[in-house]
Amino acid sequence: MLPPPLTTAADRGQAGDRLLPEAADVVVIGGGIAGISTAYYLATRGVRVVVCEKGRVAGEQSSRNWGWIRKQNRDPGELALMIESLRRWHEIVPTLDEDIGFTVGGVTSLAETEAELAEREAWLEHARAYQLDTRLLGPEEAAAMLGRSDRRVRAALTTPSDARAEPWKAVPAIARAARALGAEIHEATAVRALDRQAGRISGVVTERGTIRCASVVLAGGVWSRAFLENAGLALPQLGVKSSVLRTTAAPRFSESAFGAKGASIRPRADGGYTIARSGAATFDIIPAAFRHLGAFTPILRRNWRIMRLRFGKPFFDALQSRRWQPDQASPFEAIRVLHPDPDTHLLDDVLRAARDLYPALAEAKAAQQWAGIIDVTPDELPVLDAVATLPGLFLATGFSGHGFGIGPGAGHAMAEIVTGRRPAIDLSALRYARFSSP
Ligand SMILES: Cc1cc2nc3c(=O)[nH]c(=O)nc-3n(C[C@H](O)[C@H](O)[C@H](O)COP(=O)(O)OP(=O)(O)OC[C@H]3O[C@@H](n4cnc5c(N)ncnc54)[C@H](O)[C@@H]3O)c2cc1C
Repeated sequence: MLPPPLTTAADRGQAGDRLLPEAADVVVIGGGIAGISTAYYLATRGVRVVVCEKGRVAGEQSSRNWGWIRKQNRDPGELALMIESLRRWHEIVPTLDEDIGFTVGGVTSLAETEAELAEREAWLEHARAYQLDTRLLGPEEAAAMLGRSDRRVRAALTTPSDARAEPWKAVPAIARAARALGAEIHEATAVRALDRQAGRISGVVTERGTIRCASVVLAGGVWSRAFLENAGLALPQLGVKSSVLRTTAAPRFSESAFGAKGASIRPRADGGYTIARSGAATFDIIPAAFRHLGAFTPILRRNWRIMRLRFGKPFFDALQSRRWQPDQASPFEAIRVLHPDPDTHLLDDVLRAARDLYPALAEAKAAQQWAGIIDVTPDELPVLDAVATLPGLFLATGFSGHGFGIGPGAGHAMAEIVTGRRPAIDLSALRYARFSSP
């Protein structure tokens, strides 16, 4: 399921009559998987935590994603955290009040060319280092898995212990679990600015008043850069649009999700498939893009064949750099939920490619199309860290298109950091300072 049409009061910026508290231990900005998981794990420790979400919980990336929970093909800098995150999914799911479609069905990446085969083989090294159950299948095994009778697919890298869930059910269900543990979650509540006293965080100014607190976790997804710039801090983070479709019910030939150049697919709890093309994104050139272009050149080079560049669409105006005062309406109130139009031409082509590659999908029909804006950092890794120059401020952002699976692990790690504990996992690759140090 996708979020229903944007018709709730929160989507219109109506916050309901629940009063904001005057004070909390921690305020989390953003009700996506990162913010909600952080609040969940803070609440398990008895911390008074308040989540402020400008629109609705999981209105943006956290409901629009493919629902893959994968270790496979992760950067080694976040692999240990992802392994931990999958353990957290297994721990949280039985406590939820709804079936979120969590299934350990595996993730399989197909190789149709020599170059893809080399990539798959190279990743096996990381799998071995962490003793994962990843295996490289040959052409016969790959064909049997897909139900094909030819050798079009040369090999397939598969990790049976990887999983999936229905994002739109998962994140609101974790939010309800966090509430049951004592977390407060306020929708239609944009945080405009940070309050400081004596050089450290003393609260947040929201559109509905101020909350005093000593710690703030910014988990604002694609809005994080604009928020930080207004606070005088820099974060190289850009937004790219990614389009997705779901099909009507189609035969189930495997429990695995499959990644391939033309079309990646994930079986859905409703009997259909979520389908998209990996890396196919539209990147809008806005002034912030020029400022950070140098840092992003490697990604653009790597992906230039599949990434469409466009010059400034009005839609992105709200993500532009501009400054505002705490008593002025912020860009976060102007767009409650980022709801971009999907690229329908691309999706028609992706569905054709899926029908061609996966025989069981030969008759599949599109039931719904949507898009989301992904927040990307120059090395495609998130920032999970304290901000050294502003004590009390913490960042959990920049998940670069793979934050759904790692969300619970990231939330647990943030709860450790905010409460002054040392996370058990080495997070040195995810430091904020990596973008400022030479
Ligand atoms: C099409 C697509 C496919 C993807 N597929 C996968 C996948 O299969 N597997 C995977 O692991 N990941 C996937 N991802 C990535 C994943 O969805 C994201 O990395 C993850 O959801 C990011 O979570 P988040 O909480 O950081 O951000 P978001 O979910 O974007 O949440 C941020 C929230 O902060 C709120 N906010 C921002 N600023 C403020 C403010 N000032 N005040 C109040 N609220 C504010 C926003 O309204 C938003 O709700 C995909 C993403 C997309 C778009």
